[in-house]
Amino acid sequence: MTHNNIDFRIGIGFDSHPLTPNRPLILGGVPIPHTHGLAGHSDGDVLTHALLDALLGAANLGDKGTHFPSSDPQYRNISSLLLLEQVAAILAAAGWRVSNVDATMLAQTPRLGPFIPTMKERAAAALSLSPGRVSIKATTTDYLGFVGRAEGIAAVAVAAIMSQTRPPEPGQPAAPPSSG
Ligand SMILES: [Zn+2]
Repeated sequence: MTHNNIDFRIGIGFDSHPLTPNRPLILGGVPIPHTHGLAGHSDGDVLTHALLDALLGAANLGDKGTHFPSSDPQYRNISSLLLLEQVAAILAAAGWRVSNVDATMLAQTPRLGPFIPTMKERAAAALSLSPGRVSIKATTTDYLGFVGRAEGIAAVAVAAIMSQTRPPEPGQPAAPPSSG
């Protein structure tokens, strides 16, 4: 879709990881007190991973596995928020800026609501966005499926991006998106 020569795109992302004992539970870069955490090569942060794929998908730049292969030891236990910063830079270099993101976490336990404001702040900071452009929600599945049995946590996200009016010079970091 184009309007006044600005190109708009949207993308979707989904992720899920199993819950296992003796792992920290990290969602949106926020440590959450719980008996279990999410298994994964990185920190298992399903919310941030869904955001990564939504952003990359909107720009048609592949997925997180393309850019951060789990076979690469440098991504072992890495904070996924760092990957979110990198994806923001990848999109900026390709001439895109993020309009907004919206995500829903699916978890039967623990209650995530109290942690959402901090998740929004951290994701917004990683994306150089105002927190008003980052929506994060949580729901249960009313005990249905692997989420309902507390075997794992999942997240789905969408991202809207728009072309920058002036593409960044090669090798120059893009200007942060304007807020408001
Ligand atoms: Zn993941």
